[in-house]
Amino acid sequence: MAMLPAKQAEELILGLIQLLDANRVTEVVDLSTAVGRILAAPVTSQLDFPHWDNSAMDGYAVRFADVQHCNAQQPAELTVVEEIPAGYQPQCLIQSGQAARILTGAVMPAGADTVIMQEQTRREGDRVLILAAPTDLGMFVRHRAAFYQAGTPLLPAGIQLNAAEIAVLAAAQCTQLSVYRRPRVAILSTGNELVMPEQILQAGQIVDSNQYALAAFVAQNGGVPLPLGIVADEPEALKQAIAHAIESADMVLSTGGVSVGDYDYVEQILEQLGGEIHIRAVAVKPGKPLTVATFSQKQTDTQSSIVYFGLPGNPVSALVSAWRFVQPALKKLAGLPQSDWEPVFVKARSHQDLRSDGKRETYLWGRLYRVDGLYEFEVAGGSHSSGNLINLAQTTGLAVVPVGQTLIPAGELIQVLQINS
Ligand code: AMP
Ligand code: MG
Repeated sequence: MAMLPAKQAEELILGLIQLLDANRVTEVVDLSTAVGRILAAPVTSQLDFPHWDNSAMDGYAVRFADVQHCNAQQPAELTVVEEIPAGYQPQCLIQSGQAARILTGAVMPAGADTVIMQEQTRREGDRVLILAAPTDLGMFVRHRAAFYQAGTPLLPAGIQLNAAEIAVLAAAQCTQLSVYRRPRVAILSTGNELVMPEQILQAGQIVDSNQYALAAFVAQNGGVPLPLGIVADEPEALKQAIAHAIESADMVLSTGGVSVGDYDYVEQILEQLGGEIHIRAVAVKPGKPLTVATFSQKQTDTQSSIVYFGLPGNPVSALVSAWRFVQPALKKLAGLPQSDWEPVFVKARSHQDLRSDGKRETYLWGRLYRVDGLYEFEVAGGSHSSGNLINLAQTTGLAVVPVGQTLIPAGELIQVLQINS
């Protein structure tokens, strides 16, 4: 299988996620823990909004017929029979010649149909003078169900619950919500040289930073990380670990062992385990040795599939590949709408010359930011060798140098992939 162009790899991967849509499992969560979750079913409330006719102003609730011809010279004079603050249930029926003092948001009393704002009245003891006629019957009255009618759809399925949606659901007294279960993403690091960050390094050993990086990446993109630790470059151990990962998760991210070295066994194991391999390499730099496979498993009552990403071991390549190819796939699997999972490429002005060997689509990491609404890109200082993890910190964008181009001069407009995690 040849190296795939980046765009083709992206489309293929997102197509594979489409096939997994049917797998999606839902669960019920309480509103207090629902932030960031995605609704799996439309929500309907039994409450009207507003719940009852109420006043939009501080003023007086009146009968339109009593005041429709009045003016400052000939004010209408009404008897104030009740005061209605917010939260109070009116007791009186407003008759002709009567009014109720009413405050914003308070329930309209029966008999009244219009509110006169306080500024157009003068209070004299238990009487009020109305100094200007309202233009319409019903002025400053918010009618019951004007904003939302009980029983009709309130929020649709597929939306993410953030502060505004949570406000609506709370107001509508919808506190138990059906949401998509977050995808469980198993994370495996392969390599004899790897140790945990707490261990004292022996000569030649490397800290397994990928496990941490990918756990953070998964959590930031709506998944639940299942860190499965380090596996030696040993076919039997790897086979067991990969089989276990496939059984436990909706998606697997492994790093290392996908190049053409003597210890790179991942691809052959995926095949032995019955995986269908869709991608073996992508024409990008860094991140060329990306393996993508799917597994379908017959479980007790359902057919379920998972997608496997064999990422390069190199920590820069692993994260760049994850940003470029796994991020949209994971967000899509989580149930987000297309506008939220599509990779976002923006046009930015580069501060530096950007170079590539022109053979593969090249990603240069750095900071993407806005000045007066226009994007600028500052490439990270130091080496852009995939061996240099250190200057990857604080990356907010990956500048793209397309295949066939070896230099983009400073000051030119470039495409930058926005990284938000
Ligand atoms: P590999 O793809 O397995 O040949 O690994 C490529 C390079 O990345 C080697 O220098 C590895 O030591 C390094 N590497 C592999 N896995 C990890 C990991 N989990 N964390 C940090 N570095 C790694
Ligand atoms: Mg290795």
